[in-house]
Amino acid sequence: MQTQRVVVVGAGLGGLAAAIRCAAAGYQTTLIEARDQVGGKLNIIRDRGFVWDIGPSLLTMPWVIDDLLQQTGSSLAEELDVVPLASACRYVWPDGSIFDAWTSFPAMLQSIERIEPRDVGNFLRFMAYAQRMWHLTADTFLYSVFRGWRSLLDWRLLRDARHLDGFRTMHRAVESFFVSPKMQQVMNRFATYNGSSPYRTLATFNLIAWAEFGLGAYYPRGGMYRIAEVLHAAALRAGVDIRLDTAVTRIAHQRGRVIGVHTRCGAFYPADAVVSNVDPQVTLEHMVDGGARRARALKKRELSCSGFVILWGLNTRYDLLDHHTIFFSPDYRAEFADTDAGRLHATPTVYLNHTVAYDANHAPPGGQNIFVLVNVPPLRHSAIDWSQVAETYAQRIAERLEEVGLTDLRNHIVVQKIITPVELERMYGAPGGAIYGLASNAMTSAFVRPAQQDARVKGLFYCGGGTHPGGGIPLALLSGKHAAQLVKETLG
Ligand SMILES: Cc1cc2nc3c(=O)[nH]c(=O)nc-3n(C[C@H](O)[C@H](O)[C@H](O)COP(=O)(O)OP(=O)(O)OC[C@H]3O[C@@H](n4cnc5c(N)ncnc54)[C@H](O)[C@@H]3O)c2cc1C
Repeated sequence: MQTQRVVVVGAGLGGLAAAIRCAAAGYQTTLIEARDQVGGKLNIIRDRGFVWDIGPSLLTMPWVIDDLLQQTGSSLAEELDVVPLASACRYVWPDGSIFDAWTSFPAMLQSIERIEPRDVGNFLRFMAYAQRMWHLTADTFLYSVFRGWRSLLDWRLLRDARHLDGFRTMHRAVESFFVSPKMQQVMNRFATYNGSSPYRTLATFNLIAWAEFGLGAYYPRGGMYRIAEVLHAAALRAGVDIRLDTAVTRIAHQRGRVIGVHTRCGAFYPADAVVSNVDPQVTLEHMVDGGARRARALKKRELSCSGFVILWGLNTRYDLLDHHTIFFSPDYRAEFADTDAGRLHATPTVYLNHTVAYDANHAPPGGQNIFVLVNVPPLRHSAIDWSQVAETYAQRIAERLEEVGLTDLRNHIVVQKIITPVELERMYGAPGGAIYGLASNAMTSAFVRPAQQDARVKGLFYCGGGTHPGGGIPLALLSGKHAAQLVKETLG
């Protein structure tokens, strides 16, 4: 019998995972990527002795990578030196107070005690609550193919639905646990891990706090891009035919069944199944004949936040900066209100990451490679002209960081690069430059993300942050796993 052929469009993390698993299952698998490298949003820039990861900087749930590498006879331990971080993040407030979120609970409790002694017990109660929601939902929403209402009819989920805190916002729940506004701000921040607002997203997403504080925060030595390199090698080992610099223009189907893909250079790759790692809305609008109406429906939905990224190469090092550091805005609610209204906030929360503590060669001696991320509205929900405001906004952020502890910062910048939502959209084909696909602000948003199996075209599947279970490294990898499972169920 002829080997069945699978084409995966896009070599982001979801696409890499889907391709590796399809090849390991015995399908003749081709992975077609528009850019000249794999990884998608997991991306890297090198310049004048500095190295920056310009996409994800925080790794959670590294065992998802291990599970994938096992498909190719390898393992995480063999391929990557993954360091568990002692401190998940350092938080700094405008009044100069600092909170280190240690991943060891005893150290964490001491940190909380310095902020607000009454919140020590509250944190333990909150973790028990978040952990319970994690365990109730992980099997259905993360580790299994999400099959719509059929998945929701899981008897365990129905039995324990009352524990999922699905009728109030994240912030309402957080303020019912914590006394200190600072601890509330720390916990509310987890809404941004799926690009949402704590004042609108469901309290159920408080489970994300468990993923970081309970399950740990990690860094792969060598940089985040090592993950893409390792998966690239794993895909080759599994026998995936990888075509870089090749954009797919059309996913062809006949009589309701996928037959292959056309590329910009005029080639046709026949396929029995196609997995698109390109956002479902973009796939439907630009690649699938007859997909425009469904794309329009997706276009009406709210997008997750986008990001304003600044890369600074410094000729000094700031000890104030941990591996991950957050400089909080004075008014978190006003900040999200501005983002929701499509405006830039004047004093935004600023996230900084540098990697020289683990990889000294990521900056010239004595220097520091700073990655800055500020959450901003996605293009579709705002009229911001980034070509006009980007430089000024970067300048304002630098000034503010000088005020809160990075003394004389602007005099130490030897390289500056800016990535706006416009570039994010262009570089990765992400609608509106949204980092995590659709927002999770609406009550039903966790259930109504675009399905992984196309409803009209048999043999067409989706993976990546734009579909189930959502954005972020582990979730995108899991979506690739589930897409491969659906391919197997369809092709046999
Ligand atoms: C600034 C930033 C910070 C982030 N921080 C974190 C973090 O700290 N932790 C975390 O877990 N996650 C983080 N994320 C999210 C995480 O990076 C993404 O959720 C994840 O990488 C998305 O993977 P994906 O499978 O959706 O593929 P994508 O990364 O979206 O890749 C899609 C691929 O498809 C390709 N493509 C598009 N069109 C075509 C075409 N026509 N033909 C062929 N190929 C095509 C693109 O070039 C791209 O390579 C961050 C993202 C960004 C942008």
